[in-house]
Amino acid sequence: MTTFRYSRGVIRREYSRVIPVKSDHAAVVVDLRELIGKLLLAGRIHTCIGRMVIEDEEVRDFRAKAWDNAIHAEGTREVFSRRFNSLYRLTRIRDWLAFAVPILLAFTATAEWLEAEPAAKKLMFGILGAAAAAQLLLALWSLISRWDDNLAYCSRAMRDSYNLKEAWKKIGRNDVLDIRQEYRMRQSQQENIDSHDVQQNISPKEKQIGLRAGLIEVQRKCICGNEPKSRNVPFWPRSKCIHCGGN
Ligand SMILES: [Zn+2]
Repeated sequence: MTTFRYSRGVIRREYSRVIPVKSDHAAVVVDLRELIGKLLLAGRIHTCIGRMVIEDEEVRDFRAKAWDNAIHAEGTREVFSRRFNSLYRLTRIRDWLAFAVPILLAFTATAEWLEAEPAAKKLMFGILGAAAAAQLLLALWSLISRWDDNLAYCSRAMRDSYNLKEAWKKIGRNDVLDIRQEYRMRQSQQENIDSHDVQQNISPKEKQIGLRAGLIEVQRKCICGNEPKSRNVPFWPRSKCIHCGGN
């Protein structure tokens, strides 16, 4: 099967074979439906998407799947972007406390003006002791949960998903030289990335948020018929859905 991508000139040429030629562009666009109908009848094309693109079924299938994959890629990007942001915040707090607590402790211990205020000094040591304990717990938590490794993974996953999403959108618009070759290349890339992401334990809640982000990106409805209005699942959705969380 071949792809028929017609420029305006080609459409006019093709058009003139079946219907008398019309010179102005508006007339061509208006009568395009008639042209497509005649071309379909003549067996020259299999199907048609859009006004200016005439293509066969296989290409239409590739494009539809590419849009589905774009939703998936945007969802993955959103999930890792959220994980990245929360981990980034926690590592900043951990690192800030690691510097601030010893400095403030040294200052409190050596400040002469505090000698005259034993109650204030005691309070300062109490607060700093609690901050030091929090810092220690955060450092332990980050070691056990491997925050730094996860942060690096999220950052790379965000970049990969963004690149894939843009590539799928290009295929969806058929804005590529060879749609078959491009589709197969991106599909193997997607499978490779998915095999890594599957170890990252994406929760059902994250899947809902990811799907919502993907649907908003390509302006599509969920299979439940809802069109998500926000990237976050509403606190109390009026219509519930296990896929998108509801609206
Ligand atoms: Zn839904």
